[in-house]
Amino acid sequence: MIFGTLLFFVGTFAVVYALLLIVYFATGLLFFSNDPARADKIEPGRALPDAKVWRDIKQSVRSLASISVMFSLGHVLYSRFHIGWMAWPTSIWSVLLSFILSMIAYDTWFYWMHRLLHTKRFYRRIHRWHHLSLPSVAWSNNSDTLLDNLFLQSYWLAAHLILPIAPLVLLVHKLYDHVSGIIGHSGVEHGGGITYPPSPFNSVTHHDQHHRYFNCNYSPHFTVWDRLMGTLHKTHDAELKDNLRRRRMPAG
Ligand SMILES: [Zn+2]
Ligand SMILES: [Zn+2]
Repeated sequence: MIFGTLLFFVGTFAVVYALLLIVYFATGLLFFSNDPARADKIEPGRALPDAKVWRDIKQSVRSLASISVMFSLGHVLYSRFHIGWMAWPTSIWSVLLSFILSMIAYDTWFYWMHRLLHTKRFYRRIHRWHHLSLPSVAWSNNSDTLLDNLFLQSYWLAAHLILPIAPLVLLVHKLYDHVSGIIGHSGVEHGGGITYPPSPFNSVTHHDQHHRYFNCNYSPHFTVWDRLMGTLHKTHDAELKDNLRRRRMPAG
């Protein structure tokens, strides 16, 4: 029993970590740009020093391992010990609904944990590392401390237990979050029409402003919590419209 559970954990960890690493490097290579002269760069004229780029890549490889441990622990508790809310019977609707439910739950979890990490008590020791990447690049998404991971990414352990979601659907949600987070740090607006204000979907500009202005734009997927709580930066909608326009006319 113990050996079987350990094997189950190690097997899950190997698959999840391999997937997160592959997606990290594939998406990072596609969206990494540190050229300060790019016409469609959100913060023109600025580049992240090379030492910081390497710092972010090395730290991300470590952080992705801890995220994989948390996801795998949740999977063991759910699948081997049958703890928590069991997934709805499989159908197109249950997959779709549980995916949307998980998006909303994660957005809420991340928004409030992230605000907590920006308080005086926690910021310096736990969250500051992530904010040292200015401007952020695609590789910066997972550059954070272990404690930061425990606050923001423990969702991927808890979600197995608190939502009626199948582990595979949760993994797909994690991969969606992974890709959108990497693009969200890329420093170039890739959002397109789906993020045009007042769309509820987050854009690259949204998180770029978080790094730049610090006390605003805390959510990962949607602008809803930021709009409701008054934490959306006051220039967000206007700047996003401008960045989307520049994206369509990069030569200008
Ligand atoms: Zn932050
Ligand atoms: Zn960030």
